Amino acid sequence: MQRISHWVNNKVVAGTSGNVGKVYNPATGEVQAEVDLASVAEVDAVVAAAKEAFVTWRATNLSRRAEIMFRMRELVDANRKELANIVSLEHGKVPSDAMGEIARGLENIEFACGIPAMLKGGYSEQASGGVDVYSIRQPLGVVAGITPFNFPAMVPMWMFAYAIMCGNTFVLKPSQKDPSAAMFVADLLRQAGLPEGVFNVVHGDKVSVDRLLEHKDVQSISFVGSTPIAKYVYETGTKNGKRVQALGGAKNHMLVLPDADLDMAADAAVSAAYGSAGERCMAVSVVLAVDSVADALVDKLKSRIPNIKVGPGTDPAAEMGPLISREHRDKVASFVTNANAEGAKVVVDGTDKAKDAGFFLNPSLIDNVKPGMKCYDEEIFGPVLTVMRVKSYQEGLDTINANQFGNGTAIFTRDGGVARQFQFDVQVGMVGINVPIPVPVSYYSFGGWKASLFGDQHMYGPEGINFFTRGKVVTSRWPDPRTSSVNLGFPQNR
Ligand code: NAD
Repeated sequence: MQRISHWVNNKVVAGTSGNVGKVYNPATGEVQAEVDLASVAEVDAVVAAAKEAFVTWRATNLSRRAEIMFRMRELVDANRKELANIVSLEHGKVPSDAMGEIARGLENIEFACGIPAMLKGGYSEQASGGVDVYSIRQPLGVVAGITPFNFPAMVPMWMFAYAIMCGNTFVLKPSQKDPSAAMFVADLLRQAGLPEGVFNVVHGDKVSVDRLLEHKDVQSISFVGSTPIAKYVYETGTKNGKRVQALGGAKNHMLVLPDADLDMAADAAVSAAYGSAGERCMAVSVVLAVDSVADALVDKLKSRIPNIKVGPGTDPAAEMGPLISREHRDKVASFVTNANAEGAKVVVDGTDKAKDAGFFLNPSLIDNVKPGMKCYDEEIFGPVLTVMRVKSYQEGLDTINANQFGNGTAIFTRDGGVARQFQFDVQVGMVGINVPIPVPVSYYSFGGWKASLFGDQHMYGPEGINFFTRGKVVTSRWPDPRTSSVNLGFPQNR
């Protein structure tokens, strides 16, 4: 059985805790590897390596850091296919979808190559007599990233590229469900010339997360995962004095107005709901259909579903793969199975596919959902699209704003004025106008509102740089002995 171990000081380090997790091939349901789960002592050893490396790395000049990141960019680019296959084999998403994940991660590595241009501070000459004032941004130290199963390559890239370029050393705790992508990326960073200890991987469960949250030498935590754990990580990390950005779950609404091109809207909703088997935090999960077009829109959604080819990533024709685990598949199926009893209407039931050996479901469509139903109130995170019928634009907007989550949303309309009002009023962090999955490009930042993000700083882009650095302001005078005197008053500038 293949064993996946930790990565410390540019080497694979075998686990010693005796605890292991199972890594499945979701397309067959078989265990294909075991992953070491770290003990407290093992986490401490990884943090110690990162702490030692920080002394030299923070002093490494910016152009050298950029040179390594440029090389990393070339290596990821050259190895896209291999990395995508690794992701597909453990996560289940089809390789073409995994290629998209790598491309969006690579954008962040590319942005990070230019970080030296964004680490410039301000300078005020002659702020007072003979006094100059300037600001600099410095790294935090050892920083940690804790990542979810659904983007095992991209989400770590959202974090480490920024952290490292800003001069920090990084400890990644990837999801134990698909840990191999992190190891592949670690080896690419080694090949790019990254010194020992600057990027490390510790595999684990709650034990390792809790140790990172309390470790005195870990300065910040970047977390992406479900809302309950994001909240826990934020509360525990901040209580322990750490800077924390914790991104949580989602329930993304797509509001379709009567003037929208319904075929385009249906194509977009189906793509955004069932891509990656719905295991995307930006997946469209609820279509808000204004009454007058709801019947027509539901028909169009329904007619597209039989054409979606569900199958393993090894089948080049497959468009949608399995879910991550048996338990998750069964949980997702239960939302569909219980929906009729809750008063909704199951239009397409994809749960029959759960009889397969792999963790598959076919796409499901549920109409007439309402707040108060489980299939509306909870994040499903699977290939289930729900439709809520609303009377007006205003009711659609109010529904979105009343939801506990605020990650992504989209409006489909031909009316620019309404779209502009929507962008102004909607309480969601990432908004699409006729764009169903509005993941910001790397030079903006990614993050939701409300229960989709705990903390102040969004991830990657300019806010990523802020998160991984802290400001320092220097007030300097190069003394002119002729102006020296004793003055007990508080320093003034006039
Ligand atoms: P998860 O919360 O179960 O796990 C995320 C990480 O937390 C993993 O590394 C895991 O090992 C760790 N963890 C799990 N339980 C823990 C516990 N009790 N104590 C401490 N650590 C724990 O999430 P997941 O199932 O891997 O990922 C899916 C979730 O992530 C969905 O809710 C999805 O919406 C969310 N997500 C959000 C974003 C975003 O940007 N907002 C992006 C991707 C995924």
